[in-house]
Amino acid sequence: MGNFNKSVDAYKEAVDLMPGGVNSPVRAFKSVGMSPIFMESGQGSKISDIDGNEYIDYVLSWGPLILGHADERVVTKLKESVEKGTSFGAPTLLENKLAQLVIDRVPSIEMVRMVNSGTEATMSALRLARGHTGRDKILKFEGNYHGHGDSLLIKAGSGVATLGLPDSPGVPEAIAKNTITVPYNDVDSVRYAFENYGDDIAAVIVEPVSGNMGVVPPMENFLQELRKITEDNETVLIFDEVMTGFRVGFNCAQGHFGVIPDLTCLGKVIGGGLPVGAYGGKREIMEKVAPTGSIYQAGTLSGNPLAMTAGYETLSALNQSSYDEINKKVDKLVAGFKQASIDFSIPLQINRAGSMVGVFFTNEAVTNYNSAQQANLNYFAQYYRSMIDEGVFLPPSQFEGLFLSTAHTDEDIDKTIQAVRNAFSKIEK
Ligand code: PMP
Repeated sequence: MGNFNKSVDAYKEAVDLMPGGVNSPVRAFKSVGMSPIFMESGQGSKISDIDGNEYIDYVLSWGPLILGHADERVVTKLKESVEKGTSFGAPTLLENKLAQLVIDRVPSIEMVRMVNSGTEATMSALRLARGHTGRDKILKFEGNYHGHGDSLLIKAGSGVATLGLPDSPGVPEAIAKNTITVPYNDVDSVRYAFENYGDDIAAVIVEPVSGNMGVVPPMENFLQELRKITEDNETVLIFDEVMTGFRVGFNCAQGHFGVIPDLTCLGKVIGGGLPVGAYGGKREIMEKVAPTGSIYQAGTLSGNPLAMTAGYETLSALNQSSYDEINKKVDKLVAGFKQASIDFSIPLQINRAGSMVGVFFTNEAVTNYNSAQQANLNYFAQYYRSMIDEGVFLPPSQFEGLFLSTAHTDEDIDKTIQAVRNAFSKIEK
């Protein structure tokens, strides 16, 4: 067991200062029975805590750091940018550059608006869909997480699933009643909802690969069917690619699966580790956003020069072969997990989309929120704590995926597989 004295002290101080001692619930380590680890620095695939312990990092700030920590190209440009001033409240060329890059790379996006987080992106996209269609209802999937906007905190995944709070108090009934939820990967339920409410549904919002109940990829034709049903009903199809965008592939999940939504939400990788979100899509819909249109959405720090710089440099550093290289490392890691599960008789399902990997302690296929919940949380918590001891930092929840970066080396993967084997050998059944 590493020494965590400074983290334990910092946490004691923090719980008096912030709810649960954290600024985002998933950082609280509640479901794995540990005190949060306070981090100090990161370089490449490694992250170091305030007690001096080093880990191979598969959290990567919950996805954004696809180049790893403190990538030299990003840091150099950020330093240049910070010296020119941190915010102007007026347009900059950097915004044009990142917008053009996003439009070039994301098939559905003809126009884009930058915001500051994934939550802002999804809230804004929903407002736009409602304003565009003149309808109030939206349809989302159980276990999908789209940030903490009121309309979307219904049967949500991620931290709300980890903490068992899928419907948050504070969301007014009047708002909740306009959110229809159906199981992920269940086209019949979507059809049924449209038979009953089709004329009232402004938008279907979906994670094209779900990453917030662990990783759950779409089953064959699921996304294609959603595209067809929404087209038939003149409903806006929104892909929430906050997690999958520029991670599942060079052209995001929509490029990978060949299904083009009307609107797309982005976050995480698009900011390269700084606070950025974006939503974009068809020109005819996007032009309804103020000031061209009357649907209002704004932001004091939106398009911030530092955030645009980190995003632009991160996306510019990626090409098709970056994804091929990361995927090869994921192949090796997944094979290592599978072999360990056989050798130590541990029930295990691995779901995977590009460099998003879901590790579930169950023998049953995981295709939706219900099946994800069958996973053995006790095994997960034991495995988690052993992995920390072994120097591997993973998302502290069964309902989150792990991520790889271009900075992860073959040596990192070999060490991680050995750590998995050691962890599995110690699981008490
Ligand atoms: N959508 C998805 C798919 C996400 O995974 C997340 C965050 N994990 C969000 C939206 C919310 O993004 P943020 O935390 O930046 O508000």
